[in-house]
Amino acid sequence: MKELHVYNSYSRAKEKFEPLVPGHVGMYVCGPTVSGESHLGHARPYITFDLVYRYLTHLGYKVRYVRNITDAGHFEEEGREAEDKISKKAVIEKLEPMELVQKYTNLFHWAMDQFNTVPPSIEPTATGHIVEQIGMIQELIRQGYAYEINGSVYFDVRKYAEGHDYGKLSGRVIDEMLETTRELEGQDEKRNKADFALWKAAPPEHIMRWNSPWGEGFPGWHIECSAMATKYLGKQFDIHGGGMDLQFPHHESEIAQSTICNHTPPVRYWMHNNMITINGRKMGKSYNNVIRLTELFRGDHPELEKAYSPMTVRFFILQTHYRSTLDFGNEALQAAEKGLKRLMEAYEWLQKQPAADDAATVTPDNELEEKVTTLLASFADNMNDDFGTARVLASMFELVPVINGIKDKAIAPGTLSVATFTKLQQELKLWVEDIFGLRPETAADNDKLQGVMQVLINIRKDARARKDWGTSDAIRNQLAAIGIQLKDEKDGGMAWTIA
Ligand code: ZN
Repeated sequence: MKELHVYNSYSRAKEKFEPLVPGHVGMYVCGPTVSGESHLGHARPYITFDLVYRYLTHLGYKVRYVRNITDAGHFEEEGREAEDKISKKAVIEKLEPMELVQKYTNLFHWAMDQFNTVPPSIEPTATGHIVEQIGMIQELIRQGYAYEINGSVYFDVRKYAEGHDYGKLSGRVIDEMLETTRELEGQDEKRNKADFALWKAAPPEHIMRWNSPWGEGFPGWHIECSAMATKYLGKQFDIHGGGMDLQFPHHESEIAQSTICNHTPPVRYWMHNNMITINGRKMGKSYNNVIRLTELFRGDHPELEKAYSPMTVRFFILQTHYRSTLDFGNEALQAAEKGLKRLMEAYEWLQKQPAADDAATVTPDNELEEKVTTLLASFADNMNDDFGTARVLASMFELVPVINGIKDKAIAPGTLSVATFTKLQQELKLWVEDIFGLRPETAADNDKLQGVMQVLINIRKDARARKDWGTSDAIRNQLAAIGIQLKDEKDGGMAWTIA
């Protein structure tokens, strides 16, 4: 496709992408809840929308990318338990939710950096936008779409559904929802089971709490995204992204709140990435397969046969279209690791060649010229078809034998014209690094590091055989000091991991 087309989850169709304001794109992506460490479930949406952001930027749009941090209202249980035990202690000894928020936000940023994702233009926090959320709730009450009971405020879904299509995004039937929606709030005070909380009264032991017109409490989850998206992107904006699991109730509720407050549907293109499974099973605490990103990078989880580098994971995710399901299985990950290595070795060699080598004595081969030019041109066509990353990578792999052929001289110098060779170098640099965000750290450097570590392990082994414990301990301790852990293995060997 010559122009970008995006699959809109709302219309369930691919639509030509036309931003509201020519040349500008407003994009909102639901960010992480930072009450715990980031896990594999966080990798796919943020890598997917990083690619969307990079590609839109490449197309020349000025993109404002907003991704929030959910740091309010999710500390109930942990807080309640801890606070009971330590309520008489000094402030410094009490659980400070913002300390947890900071810790997990830092870890999230670290992991996103490992994945080479570009930071969003604005990363607003829910706790930093309580005023805006209260303002929006007041407007909903004023218009008669929200009601207060016992210091909590709920959105009136039945009333909204009278004039709006509640359930359209997630494909749910409103009448069924009004009858059967599960009791998530654990309270009977709502007028209807489908109503959702905009503001919750805080029980005395709840740590995070703010003053409001309805007493002390904390905001519901859905209202934060509506409030922050409106503030930074306007009443209507171009793209709203997130995982498919957020369609209901989160995004359905966002649409309802914003449509009433702002008198317009908030989003032009809804984009949702599909879910991941782990070795064929849904990820969940009950399966004991929630893999944290730190565990993934270290290979430190029963589901993992080994560690997988951030670039392997990024590449693995982009090898599948974002709307398809994706299974994190060891075999597939190891295949991706090999594939990436092969691609990056060819890529790195290519980039090291002098830009223009006019030693050509051979007439360029038209068929090869044509092949390379066509493959390079297909990158954009496939991306314009709803971000077809899998097909772009497949085309890159068709170029690898060409590059290796030139490298091994199986393809004589000059068979590819200087112009086409230069184009190949430049286009691959653009697509591999700038758009796909693949960092050429891996292959060569890791091989060398492996080699160096083997040298150290051998020296230490010899030292131990001589009972030279001083040298043995020095190697272990000095490696530990720079974050490399040595581990004795059952077979007498030695493994190492980077902390
Ligand atoms: Zn959200």
